[in-house]
Amino acid sequence: MAAKKLVTPVSTGGIYKLDTASWRDFRPVIDKTRCVECGICLTFCPVCSIIRTGGKYEITYDYCKGCGLCAHECPKQAIDMMPEHGVGQRPAKGGQ
Ligand code: SF4
Ligand code: SF4
Repeated sequence: MAAKKLVTPVSTGGIYKLDTASWRDFRPVIDKTRCVECGICLTFCPVCSIIRTGGKYEITYDYCKGCGLCAHECPKQAIDMMPEHGVGQRPAKGGQ
């Protein structure tokens, strides 16, 4: 199994390891029929989870924390925030 990827911000208190993907209750999904490939979502993502490959934008989920900033800023409403654990289901805090 591949090692889990973590975000490691640095502050005056040292280096922190953050499993930002584990924070996600909703995951962004790009509707490619509405995307005009402007790149605004990539610019706003705070953890660099959106990449450009072959002129197309894709969301990677190793670091995505489900904040929804990309969906909020998309001028074409091409990003939907989908429940991470199935429609209408959210895990209890601290549970599986
Ligand atoms: S902001 Fe919206 S339209 Fe622009 S690249 Fe991202 S998903 Fe596509
Ligand atoms: S939901 Fe937040 S962290 Fe995930 S891709 Fe969008 S802006 Fe980045």
